[in-house]
Amino acid sequence: MSDVAALIARWREIDRLARDHDARLVAVSKYAPDAAVAALIDAGARDFGESRPQQLRDRARRWPHCRWHMIGPLQRNKGKYIAEYAASWLSLASLDCARVVARRLGEGRPPLPVMVQVNLAGLPQQSGIAAGECAAFCRELEQWPQLQVVGLMAMVPRDGDTAAAVARLRRLKGEVGRESMRHICVGMSHDYRQALAAGATMIRVGSALFGAWDVRRA
Ligand SMILES: *Cc1c(COP(=O)(O)O)cnc(C)c1O
Repeated sequence: MSDVAALIARWREIDRLARDHDARLVAVSKYAPDAAVAALIDAGARDFGESRPQQLRDRARRWPHCRWHMIGPLQRNKGKYIAEYAASWLSLASLDCARVVARRLGEGRPPLPVMVQVNLAGLPQQSGIAAGECAAFCRELEQWPQLQVVGLMAMVPRDGDTAAAVARLRRLKGEVGRESMRHICVGMSHDYRQALAAGATMIRVGSALFGAWDVRRA
C-alpha cells in the first residue's frame, strides 16, 4: 500500500470507530504537510485540528469547505485568526483571550462554538483551567454571546486514566448545566479508543493518523 493509501485507510478506520460511538474525529494536522491534508480531504475528511493560528488561517483559506478547529494555547494577538477562520475553538482557557476573540467576532455573526479546556491533573506544563473553577469560568463566558460553549476538553497524559477523565468531565458538564454543552472532547493518539469507550463525543488524533507524515515540526 502506498503511503497515501495507508493514511486514508487509517483515517477511515478511526473515523468509522468514532461514528460507531456517535462521536466525531478531528484529524490533528498541526504537524502534517499540505500533501497529507489534501489526500485526506480528497478521501472525505472535513474536520481538522490546528494549534498554530497562522497555519489554521492559511489552510482555512486554501480549503474553505473544511472545518478548521483551534486546539492549542492561544496568544491574545492571534485571536483575530480564530475569530475569522476557526470553525470552533476547542482550547479556550483564558477570559482575556475569550474577550479578544468575542470582540473580533462582533455582532451579526453566528456564535463561535467553543470548548473550555480543563487541566484535570493540574499539570504545570498543560494549559486549561482548574476543574474547581469550571462552573464559574463558564458563567463568566456568558457575557459574550458571540461565544457558544458547546463542551469541555481535556488532555490526558500517557500514564493517565482516560476513562476517569471522561467521567470527571461529564460530571463537570452536569454541574455547569448548560443545554448547549454537548461535547466531551477527550482522546488523542494514545487513548482515543479508551476515550470513545468511556463516552467521549469528539477525539483529536494526530500522530496515530498521520504516522510518518507527522513531522513534529516544533
Ligand atoms: C497535538 C494535539 C493532539 C494530537 O496529539 P497526538 O498525540 O498526535 O494524537 C490533540 N490535542 C491537542 C490539544 C494537541 O495539541
